[in-house]
Parts: sequence; C-alpha cells; structure tokens
Amino acid sequence: MTSQISPIQDSCPSGEISAYIDGELSPVEEIEVESHFGVCIICSTELNRQKSFLSALSSSLEREKEFELPKNFTKTIVANAESRVSGLRRPRERFNAVFICTALFLFILFALGSDAETLFGIFVVVLEKAAAVGAFAFRLVYSVSLGAVVVARSLSSQILFSSYLSFLFFAGLFGFLLFACSRLILRSDRS
Ligand SMILES: [Zn+2]
Repeated sequence: MTSQISPIQDSCPSGEISAYIDGELSPVEEIEVESHFGVCIICSTELNRQKSFLSALSSSLEREKEFELPKNFTKTIVANAESRVSGLRRPRERFNAVFICTALFLFILFALGSDAETLFGIFVVVLEKAAAVGAFAFRLVYSVSLGAVVVARSLSSQILFSSYLSFLFFAGLFGFLLFACSRLILRSDRS
C-alpha cells in the first residue's frame, strides 16, 4: 500500500536535498533528484523550505555585517567615564556621599537597637570576666555585620550607592567602627 500523502517514502532522497542545494551532487544524481521533485510534493516542499531558510539566514548575516560600531565609540565611552569620575569631585556629590554614609551608620545603630540591651549585659560580664572577651567580640562583630547586611539589603532596592567612592567611604567607616569597638574591649579588659 503506497500513498502520495504519506510523509517520507522509501524512494525519497530526503538526505540529498541539502546536498542538492549545496551543489554537492554529481550531475547524474542531480537529474535524478530534480525529476523526483517533479513528482513528490513532500520533497519539493522540503526543498523550498530549506531554500527559504537559507536565504533568510544569509540575508540576516548580511545585515549583521552592515552593523558596525560607530567610529568614535571608544572615544565616547572614555569621555563619558571621565566625566563621571570628575563629577565625583563636585562638592554636591561629596555631600551626597557623606549624607548617605551617615544615614547608613545611623541605620546600623538602629538595626542593632533591639540587641543593644543584650550587648550591654554581655559587656558588663566581659568587664568581670576577661575570658568572655572573645565571645563578646565575636558576638559584637556578628551583630554589627548582621546589621550591616540587613541595612544594605533593605537599602539596596531604595538607595543606590551614588558612586563607588561613597561605597568605599562606607566600608572604611564600618571598618573603623569595628576597630574602635575592639580597642574599647581591649582597654576595658586591661583596667
Ligand atoms: Zn519525495
């Protein structure tokens, strides 16, 4: 039982269609395939499909070639970056950076607020027992770090760091805070 409608018949040179388009067949094979296209609607449809796909592909590749970077592309990028960096030196930008950093510092203190009483209680114990210093320091650093993370997370969606500089400033401030706390602990330990 043979039918014209069945998808691919055994006699169909389905694997040779792309070879035919690429011109890889021998003249005899080409004639055979062409005569088959005349009688088989499935293979002639497949031939047209592959041809139109290839022409679409080549035309899109042509368009790709036409797209070139503007001649002054790099120059523009560099000039833009330079103007951004020099913009940081403006007093207003500095003020913004300091303002944001101060706000962040206050937010850290606020975030620690609920823990402050506990921390103070531990602090008293530390004064009596030097052995607890390590644990306290760890707890303090942990709490401050946790506070910083909470603050950073809650702020990241609302306040964008206006610049890399302000981030460095904040990081330095945070480091100084940790340093100052550690000095405080060591001094009270000695006395
Ligand atoms: Zn066929």
